[in-house]
Amino acid sequence: MTQPPAATERSAELFSRAAAAIPGGVNSPVRAFSAVGGTPRFISSASGCRLVDADGNSYVDLVSSWGPMILGHAHPAVVDAVQRAATTGLSFGAPTEAEVELAEEIIARVDPVERVRLVNSGTEATMSAVRLARGFTGRSKIIKFSGCYHGHVDALLADAGSGVATLGLPTSPGVTGAAAHDTIVLPYNDIQAVTAAFAEHGDEIAAVITEAAAGNMGAIAPVRGFNAALRGLTARHGALLIIDEVMTGFRVSPAGWFGLEGVSGDLYTFGKVMSGGLPAAAFGGRAEIMASLAPTGPVYQAGTLSGNPVAVAAGLATLRHADADTYLTLDRNAERIGTMIGDALTAAGVSHRVQYAGNLFSVFFTDDPDTAIVDYAGVKATQTWRFAPFFHALLDAGVYPPPSAFEAWFVNAALDDAAFDAIAAALPRAAQAAAAATGGEPK
Ligand SMILES: *Cc1c(COP(=O)(O)O)cnc(C)c1O
Repeated sequence: MTQPPAATERSAELFSRAAAAIPGGVNSPVRAFSAVGGTPRFISSASGCRLVDADGNSYVDLVSSWGPMILGHAHPAVVDAVQRAATTGLSFGAPTEAEVELAEEIIARVDPVERVRLVNSGTEATMSAVRLARGFTGRSKIIKFSGCYHGHVDALLADAGSGVATLGLPTSPGVTGAAAHDTIVLPYNDIQAVTAAFAEHGDEIAAVITEAAAGNMGAIAPVRGFNAALRGLTARHGALLIIDEVMTGFRVSPAGWFGLEGVSGDLYTFGKVMSGGLPAAAFGGRAEIMASLAPTGPVYQAGTLSGNPVAVAAGLATLRHADADTYLTLDRNAERIGTMIGDALTAAGVSHRVQYAGNLFSVFFTDDPDTAIVDYAGVKATQTWRFAPFFHALLDAGVYPPPSAFEAWFVNAALDDAAFDAIAAALPRAAQAAAAATGGEPK
């Protein structure tokens, strides 16, 4: 019954060659498949909803470059925009009209954002937003939540999600006590803990930073009233609310999570979708705060390649082509795949919970499927050991899910009937693999 695993000689060869040149063979840890084992697939091309690896295997992509590719890979409009931009110069180190258009596009979509600065990665965006919050308020402390990931910013790595969670790291060596000292880490969705922290440190807290909806410990939406409570507490205590929409921004709606919930932050961070798949990100917010940035204000922030014309072209083309229909399709695709996964697991007798945050979703293996998982402790208590066999059965059948139980699944709007057929065909065996998994403590 078992299907022969896909040939992976070429990927294996490249992975060992990579390991001799690049630490762990990868330029971002989760790509190494550490949590699921096996050979990371080296990708040679991608189009629409499919990836092709170095051995010629084709996969239905349910990662979408960790979010950016909402239109699917190599979308003709985006490729065309990039090609046009490239022929007129790759970088000028001087302002361009297109970066104004991208900033205006973001401002037009997300009401509380009045000014935007472009940067090169989500990490840079959150790092800069935190510095700006500290500079603007004259305070030092930052509240972040366990299991939320804001890039690999020193002060924000404590108890972080994404690869930090996948590798089981409490934080990272190399982050000094001084850098972490002003970070207060609290459980996600715990309003009481935030209230208590403000009661104790209220006049020292520069900002609360939160993912608009948590997506880096699996998909965990804020409980009703959580983001609004953060808005109220920060405002009352003269602190800023930084809403990290690097993952949710321009994915879960045209205006990101803000478009679904309407809670206003003082500062926002964006990345992923707004980059169109090239290195671009942004932070923005109230004009009064953003005016503290150099050159109008004293808080320094800069970038040789910030607002890069080719990256800006990719981002603009992506945002402009993502119409109402695209967002409807993203929602429908997420719902459809989540339902298919749930049905397959139920049929195989695997207790689980498919949880959504907008059109982000993830699969939690839990004995208590009716109880929402609301924080990092809840995620860590799930049967994450069922994930690797589930993952590999899908991968062997030509479906590429995120290679970690701690990551959300990212659909794109290019998924076609053949893709859904491939997923449907792959799921029963994957569900059986999850059912047969061992490795956890007997309960
Ligand atoms: C991906 C992500 C980041 C970091 O972005 P990079 O471009 O990888 O540096 C920050 N915050 C959130 C919520 C993210 O999902």
